[in-house]
Amino acid sequence: MTRVASCPICSKPAQERYRPFCSRRCADVDLARWLRGDYTLPGIDGEAADEAIGHLEADNQEGRDEDERP
Ligand SMILES: [Zn+2]
Repeated sequence: MTRVASCPICSKPAQERYRPFCSRRCADVDLARWLRGDYTLPGIDGEAADEAIGHLEADNQEGRDEDERP
């Protein structure tokens, strides 16, 4: 029996790699909302937020490397 969760952002079937989302894009959308404070979930500790911010910073550095040209 296969039960596929649906993406909370767009309701498409979730992909295992991006669970519970269907794609990295939807995961980023969710993360962005969460960081902006749209989600006011009680009990979230700072460690989870640090992890999320570190993920975003890693993305930014990837882009920066390509932009850095003399
Ligand atoms: Zn989605």
